[in-house]
Amino acid sequence: MGVKPKFDPKHTLVIRNGRIVDGAGNGWFYGDLLIRGDRIVQVGAVGPVKGAQEIDARGLVVAPGFIDVHTHADRDVVRSPFAENFVRDGVTTIVTGNCGGSEKNIATYFANIRQRGAAINVATFIGHNTILEMVKGGGAAALTPEQMAKAKAIVDQAMRDGAVGMSTGLIYRPGMYSPPEEIIELQKVAARYGGIYASHMRNEAGEILPAIDEALRVGREANCRVEISHFKLPRDVAQQIGGAATTLGKVLAARAAGEEVWLDQYPYTASSTTITAMLPDWVYDHGNAEAKKRLNDPQQVAKMLADMKHNYEDARHRPNLGYAVIANCKSDPTLAGRNLYEVAQIFKLREQNKGKEVELLSSNPDKLPDVSMEDQYRAVIDISRNGGASCVFHTMDEQEVEDILRCPLVSVASDSGIRDFGIGQPHPRGYGTNARVLGHYVRERHTISLEDAVRKMTSQPATAFHFFDRGLLRPGYVADVTIFDPDTVADKSTFEKPHQYAVGIRFVVVNGYEVLANGEMTELLPGKPVLGPGAKMAAVVMGSGR
Ligand SMILES: [Zn+2]
Repeated sequence: MGVKPKFDPKHTLVIRNGRIVDGAGNGWFYGDLLIRGDRIVQVGAVGPVKGAQEIDARGLVVAPGFIDVHTHADRDVVRSPFAENFVRDGVTTIVTGNCGGSEKNIATYFANIRQRGAAINVATFIGHNTILEMVKGGGAAALTPEQMAKAKAIVDQAMRDGAVGMSTGLIYRPGMYSPPEEIIELQKVAARYGGIYASHMRNEAGEILPAIDEALRVGREANCRVEISHFKLPRDVAQQIGGAATTLGKVLAARAAGEEVWLDQYPYTASSTTITAMLPDWVYDHGNAEAKKRLNDPQQVAKMLADMKHNYEDARHRPNLGYAVIANCKSDPTLAGRNLYEVAQIFKLREQNKGKEVELLSSNPDKLPDVSMEDQYRAVIDISRNGGASCVFHTMDEQEVEDILRCPLVSVASDSGIRDFGIGQPHPRGYGTNARVLGHYVRERHTISLEDAVRKMTSQPATAFHFFDRGLLRPGYVADVTIFDPDTVADKSTFEKPHQYAVGIRFVVVNGYEVLANGEMTELLPGKPVLGPGAKMAAVVMGSGR
């Protein structure tokens, strides 16, 4: 299943009568598009020329293919090359390897994609946590000089193999234990090849301001541009610090001072990550095996409970943990969709009444036991001990989502992998990120204009990542095109029923070939690796013969 189209440099595709939104933010205009091979050759009126294939785009918007710079698709691209959730959301190029986690060998990764084919184009980071795991394992210890030399060599090789830069995930282990100096030293290697620094910051809540400072410092001292990932602000922190104007203000001030920094965002009021992020940081600071011992040691558990009480009750004034909902739990799939308050109730029922909790829950919800904060912390610890779970956290307000979306530096990005249709209770961003911006925020709420939304999905991410032949509809650019109905485009995926594709995206063209034609997947796999700047430098050096 799935075909890599045999590349024909003379293959022509004509798209007629569309409303062209060119990706630069200009107002739409009526026009046609002539594509030959994998390139756009003409924009405007193409006249009587007949394409081998023709698309009538009357009533539809013709835009550059959407570029999603924050994804976690990684090896899923090889396993599920159709990437249907991305294609049906208008995406033609993804950047994966974010938040510190990537493939280990970028050359092998790209070779596999070239061999298997993919519906979409793929670029990747080398991940800081992945590097640390390779050179020192999962613990907290600082890198020894030998380990640092190995880590630098990994970054160097990854950049020459075509990584776009290095990503960090500083709430995850082992990266969370790395001081900024260690990150800067590694990022300098990526910077030599023109690599960008992308960061899931050390903190996205009460300590967000120093975390932004740290990301900016890495960019300054490593001398490279910075992408701050999934920029967001929880409600309680927004109230404390004066809203998104404060966090955005920091970034804008850095740019005004000459530092190149970019942002991306997924357009939802809930975030998503692993449940172990709810535990105190120290639990995992000696690696997985030691953490497992700690999670089973009553004395250590008592210490965790005390720290969690401090974090959730004293510092953040949480009345309960109902804002956190289990998305996927391998050890107990029935928990998917339950929030942690309910999970604690279920665990209590199981203790009281082995095996009958499901029946009790559905037949008599009023008879559910009350649970304490400690019961809820214990549920987090129990699930972590049994292999963990992914969670969705409902912590944000529309106000901050919209304030961030209005900032001109913000690109739209999903923070998603390739979805297994029907499996688990994942965050809806994997199905509906772009459609939600175009439907909910453009058409319904008028938060930003259609042209600006398309710019945030195309030429802006292309500029930040130096994909200088994608992201605009111009002669000579790669023929990645997304055609949608501006009146009906919408996200259907919800937190309750996530497995629903976006609607209104009608045609998606990747490297000159349709992967979505009139709303149907074509099973073509014309996507390719998109190489970072280091690959070209390596080729130049090799070509010079020295
Ligand atoms: Zn992240």
